[in-house]
Amino acid sequence: MENKVFWFVVGSQFLYGPEVLDTVAKRAAEMAEALSSGGILPCKLVYKATVKTDAEITQIMKDANYDDSCCGVVTWCHTFSPSKMWIHGFDILQKPYCHLATQYNRKIPNEEIDMDYMNLNQSAHGDREHGFIAARMRLPRKVVAGYWKDRPVQEELAAWMRAAIGYDFSRKLRVIRFGDNMRDVAVTEGDKVETQIKLGWQVDYWPVGHLVEVMNAVTEAEVDAKMAEYQDRYDLATDDIASVRYQAKEEVAMRKILEREGAQAFINNFQDLYGMDQLPGLASQNMMADGIGYGGEGDWKVAGMTAIMKKMAEGLEGGTLFMEDYTYDLEPGNEVSLGAHMLEVCPSIAAQRPRIEVHPLGIGDRQPPARLVFEGKEGPGIVVSLIDMGGRMRMIIQDIEVIKPILEMPNLPVARVMWKPAPDLITGVKCWIQAGGAHHTVLSTALTAEMMEDWAEMMQIECVHITKDTTVSGFKKELFFNDIAWKLKEF
Ligand code: MN
Repeated sequence: MENKVFWFVVGSQFLYGPEVLDTVAKRAAEMAEALSSGGILPCKLVYKATVKTDAEITQIMKDANYDDSCCGVVTWCHTFSPSKMWIHGFDILQKPYCHLATQYNRKIPNEEIDMDYMNLNQSAHGDREHGFIAARMRLPRKVVAGYWKDRPVQEELAAWMRAAIGYDFSRKLRVIRFGDNMRDVAVTEGDKVETQIKLGWQVDYWPVGHLVEVMNAVTEAEVDAKMAEYQDRYDLATDDIASVRYQAKEEVAMRKILEREGAQAFINNFQDLYGMDQLPGLASQNMMADGIGYGGEGDWKVAGMTAIMKKMAEGLEGGTLFMEDYTYDLEPGNEVSLGAHMLEVCPSIAAQRPRIEVHPLGIGDRQPPARLVFEGKEGPGIVVSLIDMGGRMRMIIQDIEVIKPILEMPNLPVARVMWKPAPDLITGVKCWIQAGGAHHTVLSTALTAEMMEDWAEMMQIECVHITKDTTVSGFKKELFFNDIAWKLKEF
């Protein structure tokens, strides 16, 4: 993430003379520098130019498109910048766009203010002209408003930058499918070509037989090195070392294939483990701990989202992980959801050092797999589901509060996370089901709903958000109107 930058482009015109333009440029450079070194933005904001002509703007947007390190463009108008000259540039811009509606000075100086001051300090004026053309062109964009030195403004810009990092990552994402998705299941299906067009992911199949081939070529030394890593990261709470070594072998092989193919996410399916002795459990968990996306039962959509959201969360406190709603505790007034998976819960949310345990798996007809067992750490978070509505993708976000599990559940042999969904479990479940949200989600206590909404806007996909204020009837109307709006938007 630290190698990525954002460009700060300041709009103006020749009307004010070179002195004003010099001042604007100097101040813009000062602002970009201060914002970059303020400790809140995840990436540098680089001042590029004070632009005055159609040609300058077109060139800078072309350059932004072609520069791989540039993840987005932030604009601002210190003075007035007639917007017709922005049309061509905005039309060709292929990077995320944010309008920072701010002002160099916080206060209006009583004595100093005269018409020269007004000419120089007219962001209230300039930013409105600038905003109009983006509205007129229906550009997906973020508007961040407020005084640039203020923390909430910088935090909002930082959140947008993380979404833009997710956009950049999504455009290059490759997902490896070790097997197809689970038989008969609908929600894990989807249009992979449409996904590549809209989100950029290349989702390809590799036969499980190929994975077994690569596994068979893994050396004992490679397994030893992986075992040392496991012991460094986790507590070994089993005598069945052979099972743990088998997971190590699976992990080494899967990583080799992902690396070779330039992939950052993968899926497998317990129904398709031909030639394998164990469903990867610990192996998948340890890969997720390093930022690799995963989806169970062939769910490549959740695998891709897990990888993207892990990238967006880089450097933040909290966990980001593949999750599944399993079972409820319906104590009136204290309803909670218990999430887990048959094995593959990422330890990024672990409240304590995870234990490696070996237990039989009720399904899949294979040997008992080694897995990590732990409890999720509490905190506010979100769950996110991406579904294929036929012709378009819908993202559903729900605010949640991860809590310390209210039970010990000593016989549950998997990692577990417990949470209260917004606005309450019952209403939340109604809304989630109305929207078609999957049982597989990405749960994050690092990212905010705002970041995911920004990301969805950049990707130009539908996004709905279940919050503390959501009602079933209001939410159903939103889904209904969205359906019509998105049908009109298909072109
Ligand atoms: Mn599942």
